[in-house]
Amino acid sequence: MIHTGRHFLQIPGPTNVPDRVLREIAQATIDHRGPEFADLGIEVLDRLRGVFKTRGPVVIFPSSGTGAAESALVNTLSPGDRILILETGWFSHIAWRQVAERLGLIAEYVPGTWRRGASPETIEQRLKDDSARELKAVVVVHNETSTGVVSRIADVRRAMNRSGHPALLIVDAISSLASIDLRHDEWEIDVTVCGSQKGLMVPPGLGFNAVSEKALAASAAASLPRAYWDWQEMLKSNKSGFFPYTPATNLLYGLREALRMLDEEGFENVLARHTRHGSATRACVRAWGLDIVPEDPAEYSNSLTAVYTPEGHNADKLRQIILEKFDMSLGTGLGKLAGRVFRIGHLGAFNDLTLAGTLSGVEMGLTLAGIPHRSGGVAAALESLTATAQPLPSEDAPLVR
Ligand code: PLP
Repeated sequence: MIHTGRHFLQIPGPTNVPDRVLREIAQATIDHRGPEFADLGIEVLDRLRGVFKTRGPVVIFPSSGTGAAESALVNTLSPGDRILILETGWFSHIAWRQVAERLGLIAEYVPGTWRRGASPETIEQRLKDDSARELKAVVVVHNETSTGVVSRIADVRRAMNRSGHPALLIVDAISSLASIDLRHDEWEIDVTVCGSQKGLMVPPGLGFNAVSEKALAASAAASLPRAYWDWQEMLKSNKSGFFPYTPATNLLYGLREALRMLDEEGFENVLARHTRHGSATRACVRAWGLDIVPEDPAEYSNSLTAVYTPEGHNADKLRQIILEKFDMSLGTGLGKLAGRVFRIGHLGAFNDLTLAGTLSGVEMGLTLAGIPHRSGGVAAALESLTATAQPLPSEDAPLVR
């Protein structure tokens, strides 16, 4: 089948890369030890601090998100250290538990249903019980990309503080940064881990660690073997805008442009936009009469929605029909949700009409796949988008440019 127009990449990352970012990436590669590079490095490192809401350093690796997760662990921990990981879904397992165990850490994996975020109460109790202070870190996935469930990091931090326990707080913000409110400094996160391919609107290939002073101090004593991932070498070079090895120069061009775009839109507007699109998507799914994975409205994700197909209807079959007929990619169900859910990504470079097109494709696909649902989902989303659209400036108000 020949498709015309643009492919709809509506998986929850990698996300659609704006043309402005693609054009920047297409520039000639420059000398990464020359003066022009330093300007690029300094601007990118500086702007990133604003996105992570930190005054401390943000480290950039040419890596995927899993690499950045490994870096967070090897820089702060020692062989045999015990850490607490909250089971929220596929990524708490694959990116954290599995990596931690392969590194020789003891991962205490607190079971979860995949329908709820990390429980601050459970964390508080476990830390209070740990009078020997054996737990060295708590790991929470902020936005569990396999389920569309958000963990309440500010509440986790308050719970940790109430326990009086010194464990580090490591947060996976891979699918929340620049889509869902995250405050590295205010929430006293020790390492925030991210990747370039989601809310940051850059192709895959960059991993990030925002690092607190406490995490830096921990790194001085941590003895897990590390070479490439070592923060110290990186921070030394970053001071003058350079990297200790060859950086991903062209991706950094793209990142600089994406960060400028977020700044132009206004960071709070970016988050508000994701909130509107999350609400409109859920209004649509509700109108179809289908269920979403998260149970608690306080934990609904604004970057993706994971939708159950009814018993006896394979979600991957639906995804296949939508891909073939409408040239749209939706996220597959991961781990125990394989075949049971499809995931709609509504993050990154995204607008009202992209959402309208996305939901229209799903609605047509549901019909073609013979999946029982009520009509009116797209209409409900449009109603929600219209009701929350920015008001037009009134006729006598001066136009602000
Ligand atoms: N953690 C979360 C929450 C993710 O969404 C992902 C990827 O989608 C990862 C970890 C792993 O990141 P990567 O695939 O870039 O290594």
